[in-house]
Amino acid sequence: MTNLDYKIIVGLEIHVQLATKTKMFCGCALSFGEDANSRVCPVCIGMPGALPVMNKQAVEFSLLAGLALNCEIPSFTKWDRKSYYYPDLPKNYQISQYDLPLNGTGFIEIPLEDGTSKRIRITRAHLEEDAGKNIHAGDAFSRVDLNRAGTPLLEIVTEPDLSSGTEVRALAIELQRIVRYLGISEADMQKGHMRFEPNINLAITKDGTEYRTPITEVKNLNSFRALQRSVEYEARRQLDEFIDTGKTMVMGNKSTYGWDDNRNVTVLQREKEEAHDYRYFPDPDLVPVEVDEKWLSKIKSRLCELPLQKQKRFVEQFGLSDYDAGVLTADKATAEFFDETVKAGAEAKRVCNLLTQIGLKLANEKNCSVAELGILPKALAKLCVMASEGQISASAAQTILVEMSGGENEPEKIAEEKNLLQKNDTGELEKIVDEVLANNPDAIAEVKAGGKKSKKASGFLMGQIIKATKGSANPQMAAKILSQKLGQ
Ligand code: ZN
Ligand code: MN
Repeated sequence: MTNLDYKIIVGLEIHVQLATKTKMFCGCALSFGEDANSRVCPVCIGMPGALPVMNKQAVEFSLLAGLALNCEIPSFTKWDRKSYYYPDLPKNYQISQYDLPLNGTGFIEIPLEDGTSKRIRITRAHLEEDAGKNIHAGDAFSRVDLNRAGTPLLEIVTEPDLSSGTEVRALAIELQRIVRYLGISEADMQKGHMRFEPNINLAITKDGTEYRTPITEVKNLNSFRALQRSVEYEARRQLDEFIDTGKTMVMGNKSTYGWDDNRNVTVLQREKEEAHDYRYFPDPDLVPVEVDEKWLSKIKSRLCELPLQKQKRFVEQFGLSDYDAGVLTADKATAEFFDETVKAGAEAKRVCNLLTQIGLKLANEKNCSVAELGILPKALAKLCVMASEGQISASAAQTILVEMSGGENEPEKIAEEKNLLQKNDTGELEKIVDEVLANNPDAIAEVKAGGKKSKKASGFLMGQIIKATKGSANPQMAAKILSQKLGQ
């Protein structure tokens, strides 16, 4: 192969489960892990004649997502029936939105590894209901659980603006942060709250001519890892296929793949995209939704500073590294906790270090967020100030933070009890320095002689002083006194 270059092209379809209390068109509670078919009613099991009633909160959550994703929001939107037959869909149609979605074109900004960001265009984001679940447990028959049927889903479709597995993963993580910040989805991957379907192909340039490989869609990915790997695998597979066969894209040769998580490969499911005819038509049981300015501005008032904005602000305003800012803004509670601590007078970098080095570890162990450790921002700020003023050492601050996570919010008290206050009392320190000097005349001689051994000897003396104070001496102050005494 001479002169071959290629670019990966990926667009995403994402289903996000909304965190409403009840289902999209009935009053059944949304809850995970219940007995099969215990959260159902005539509406969501598709009894003839049962009438759907819209869940207003689901509509508002979707509009809030649309605002955060910079979408155009039309004033008129309607519901359509998407007809297909499957055991987990007893109505034989899914209520969805076809030509007039709640949210039109928009974009999402995703952070890249080099600290810059990339804008990915959003095609649309519409609201629909989920189907039930077929359970194939390996018996002679399969079961159907309709607890999930009727769950509100926000389906987000992007333009094919993504160009690597890493970018696809970054978008998924960014979207998870956004919907969690907005409080519209728990976005718990393990519970299938976010499901991804990448559409992948390659633009190959060979000897100056560009070729496009056939598009493949990988279905139903529910982990970031599987999402990234499937895109990377498909890119390699398509490149190999092109080199072997020269096959390129023609209308209708899109195929569907599944992901085998054990073997880390995609598996062909359907060779040709059947010309689906879903027979979309407006649902006669539901009225269209009109979104007026007044309603929309009310929803707009629920927007918050979005995660990437926050991350960039932490870098610019506080001089944090992009990495640290990303860690602190991973969840909203931690980001706000950090913000409040800085507002209460702490040095931003010190708060950041304490939280990323100690706080997150503690939170991890307790399976909660940093904000839920029982530490008040004001108390953490106090601790930081004590460290900045030299009342305690940096390592003592870490020790005290661990104690504070037990709910003790007085860092001064802990410092005193644990004897961690640095000796800033010049008189007392001087006495200790004098003692150390009296006990080490050889070292003094070496310091005074200068040369190679001098540095080592003064280091030794400092060590003795710190040891004599059991580590509680303020090192800067001790060094100052020592050099004065040595006449330096
Ligand atoms: Zn129901
Ligand atoms: Mn869908």
